[in-house]
Amino acid sequence: MFGKGTKAYGILANKCPRCHEGDVFPNKNPYNLKEMMKVNERCDKCEQSFEPEPNFFYGAMYISYMYTTGIFVFSFVLGRYILDLSATGTVILAVGLLLACAPYVFRLSRSTWLHINVKYRKDALKKND
Ligand SMILES: [Zn+2]
Repeated sequence: MFGKGTKAYGILANKCPRCHEGDVFPNKNPYNLKEMMKVNERCDKCEQSFEPEPNFFYGAMYISYMYTTGIFVFSFVLGRYILDLSATGTVILAVGLLLACAPYVFRLSRSTWLHINVKYRKDALKKND
């Protein structure tokens, strides 16, 4: 399920949605905050553009809301039902987790959005297919 050629692999590994070989981000570490937002212009393996149209990543915001909501629900369940924290403690936990995950979620959202919009092609790396 997470092997090469699956969407889950491509999204989690931040790979090019078309060939699953090239990297979407020039710096692999999402916690390098200076370079966090940098996206390669195109895939260095198959030439797929990583910003196919202006403001392409606007849509990634909705994906980001989705992941953020997931983290929020997770921290609520964790705080209230597993760690048995007070309401305040749960809020602090949620905010802390959201902040800690923000750079990762930012990238995951962009990666997910690319993979929703660009189809994987097994033959993407062959010339003149
Ligand atoms: Zn590619």
